[in-house]
Amino acid sequence: SDTKIILGIDIGTSGVRGCIVKKKTCETSVTETIISEVAIEMPSATKGVDNSISQDASIWIHSVNQLLIGLAKNFKLDAITHLVLDATSSTVLLTDQEGSPLSKALMYNDAQSIDHATKISEQIEISKEFSGAQGASSTLAKVMTLLEQNKDISHPVISHQIDFINHYLCGAMNITDENNALKLGYNSIHQAWPSWVKSIIKAKNKNVELPKVVKPGSLLGTILPDIAKKFGFKNNLKVMSGTTDSIAGFLASGATKVGDAVSSLGSTLAIKVISEKPIFNNKYGLYSHKLGDFWLVGGASNSGGRVLLDFYTVGELKQLSSKISAEQIEQYLKTNPPAFYPLREKGERFPIADSHLKPIMPNKPTCHFSQVKNSETCLRQHTLFLLNLLLGITQIEKLAYSKLSELGVLDIKRIFTVGGGTKNQVWMQLRELQLNTPLSIAENPQAAYGVTKLIE
Ligand code: ADP
Repeated sequence: SDTKIILGIDIGTSGVRGCIVKKKTCETSVTETIISEVAIEMPSATKGVDNSISQDASIWIHSVNQLLIGLAKNFKLDAITHLVLDATSSTVLLTDQEGSPLSKALMYNDAQSIDHATKISEQIEISKEFSGAQGASSTLAKVMTLLEQNKDISHPVISHQIDFINHYLCGAMNITDENNALKLGYNSIHQAWPSWVKSIIKAKNKNVELPKVVKPGSLLGTILPDIAKKFGFKNNLKVMSGTTDSIAGFLASGATKVGDAVSSLGSTLAIKVISEKPIFNNKYGLYSHKLGDFWLVGGASNSGGRVLLDFYTVGELKQLSSKISAEQIEQYLKTNPPAFYPLREKGERFPIADSHLKPIMPNKPTCHFSQVKNSETCLRQHTLFLLNLLLGITQIEKLAYSKLSELGVLDIKRIFTVGGGTKNQVWMQLRELQLNTPLSIAENPQAAYGVTKLIE
């Protein structure tokens, strides 16, 4: 058997998190044990007058250092054999050839590059191929802005958040993973940079070379000697290429095989499925990431948990839900409730592509929530309202899975669930009764754990 000690590091939007996993592989089985977990908060990005959302990349290095110091307190880091990162996708900066920052990093949600996005859209249209570089928050649109703002730099290097930290750890330069490369325009079907992406970038600065792209989980290099010394890593610690935060989150759920899906019941309802073939569909906002030999097909609805918060606080949701029994839910379903489509405003992308789609909302209770504890009638009104909303979102989820089947993702075998909505038992029971697919409990919600699964 073979034993690896893997350190996964998740660079999230508000903090960094580390997870050390012992992975023992025998001929017939793999066992994973979490040895230690540490989280460090990170200051939030700065919003500029120009609508930019940016951050100094040195903040990430500082946070990673704090994290490693924290981990070293409980565990001798010289036992670690592999280190692998995930980071927010489309957060990007320019560096010099030695990896020092030449610009601020534009964060994943920076959307100032609207004009560039329009030009990119035209190119995508002409190429007749799917591209992940769509939209003002794409890495490509941001890189165009950065190159324009830094015209005097002679040989800049494009560095995703993950690349910048990997460079700090092992010195790797101008190399990235396939998943982070998607929003910079990399074509994972052809395993190449489209020629239009090259020319659009060269037109801004002829000396820029697009990064070399590798599979997630491949060797980037060994830890730099001074980093090893500083934190007590062994000298031959392998630093491996990683992935994006959302893919790491997917892996954390335990989904591993073709037909495994993850429903994310967060602010929005997002769905990802492991499929044998990719699906790219601009109309439905569906795209695919390469994941080993398979593809991760994903789409997101505008509906989801955020709609509930227009009517209730999380505390009220908990209070109201705790008063709804399993029998009541079954009784409710027997009444054949109408099909609601809860949305905060008009417009939907997936599973229905219609920017004018109107929300179909249930009738609001006539009494204020504060009356629920004094009045049976009021409680009944609010109970029905919440059940209608939750069933509506559940039916959208069901429709999303059948849409995926229609578009070619065959046979969804089990669905894992993650996100804030998993805390709601009423919602979970409605899903259990409505989705005709076995629901599995997600293993661990942490992306820092999920990313370690890239190391085989
Ligand atoms: P995000 O997508 O913002 O990361 P989270 O996974 O943290 O979201 O989930 C936030 C959502 O979870 C909120 O929109 C809220 O509606 C939902 N949520 C949290 N607790 C409950 C609950 N007890 N019942 C129903 N929904 C909940």
